Amino acid sequence: MTYALIPTEPTVPVEVMRMSSSKVLGYAAKAVGQPLEPFTYKPPKLGKHDVRVSVTHCGLCHTDIQAIDDYYGITEFPFVPGHEIVGYVSAMGRAVSDLKEGDRVGIGWQGRSCMDCDFCLQGEEQLCMDIVASGTWVPYGGFASSVLVDSRFAYPLPDAIPSEVATVLMCAGIAVFSPLQSYAVRPRQKIGIIGVGGLGHLALQFAHALNYDVTAISSSPEKKEEALAFGADHFIISEDETSLRQAMFSFDLLLCTTSAKINWEALLNILKKNGRLVLVGFPDLAFNSTDLVAHQLSITGSFLGNRTTMREMLAFAQEHGIVPKVELMPMTRVNEAIQKVRENKARYRIVLVNDTVEVEV
Ligand SMILES: [Zn+2]
Ligand SMILES: [Zn+2]
Repeated sequence: MTYALIPTEPTVPVEVMRMSSSKVLGYAAKAVGQPLEPFTYKPPKLGKHDVRVSVTHCGLCHTDIQAIDDYYGITEFPFVPGHEIVGYVSAMGRAVSDLKEGDRVGIGWQGRSCMDCDFCLQGEEQLCMDIVASGTWVPYGGFASSVLVDSRFAYPLPDAIPSEVATVLMCAGIAVFSPLQSYAVRPRQKIGIIGVGGLGHLALQFAHALNYDVTAISSSPEKKEEALAFGADHFIISEDETSLRQAMFSFDLLLCTTSAKINWEALLNILKKNGRLVLVGFPDLAFNSTDLVAHQLSITGSFLGNRTTMREMLAFAQEHGIVPKVELMPMTRVNEAIQKVRENKARYRIVLVNDTVEVEV
């Protein structure tokens, strides 16, 4: 049997290739920091809970690039990145009962879990003790014609959510929705979103829809208008000491979505006593701890979200029309897309459209 690869979108260049059904076409880094190259491999074996998903769209996340650079020290090469995936179920293991072939699903960073450790048993799968092996990009990720994950981590998508929107929600969306939902509990609480980028512009939309009093905090004054359009009620320039002084003791929660350098002592002062800073980015932390102690502040990391929150996030995003700002590029131009993100030029997320999908001929 042979397959032709046809374009999924009329707006992207067409690349017609033929390939055997026994091969997956992906884009892999062969070594640390290297550009991606076309890479074909045998489809991973389908376990009884697994689904194979033909990828139509895959978001490009900063995390993909950090993994190419082996920032986390866990990357195995050749490495096929991609963990913000939308596609169609094309094959299923024998124990899969809640999905069927042809279903459109979204997949985020977590593609499986051990289902057996204390955290998995408590429904906190994102804290699975086997988390390194649980990544969607193990063994190979979504910059490919298909991907294999545990069906319990492939989420059916509401028809109303376009695929390019869903890709970003699967990672950036859950990353900001989960802590906003967990730690900000009262309506009109004062929430500050630090960073107006890929995560931040979504956090502003979610926080606004959750009915908080939302302030965007950014080092880029030129982002003010857009931040207000995303749902911010106020805008503070993070380097503006006068504004920060005026905002002292006014925030219940700060959500840090950036990994950039931050003047923490000035920013922690804008938290109310008993306030909380939640990190979803990976900024360096260095500050004098006196105010942290004296004001009884909390600093919390937040990693993705569990499966229940993922479903709630998708339903919430649909209901409130949460739409990330994305730029579509064909997957064949993945290296160009990576370069753009490396240069911080993506506004705000790049979604790769798979210009090659398998169809039977
Ligand atoms: Zn991501
Ligand atoms: Zn586990």
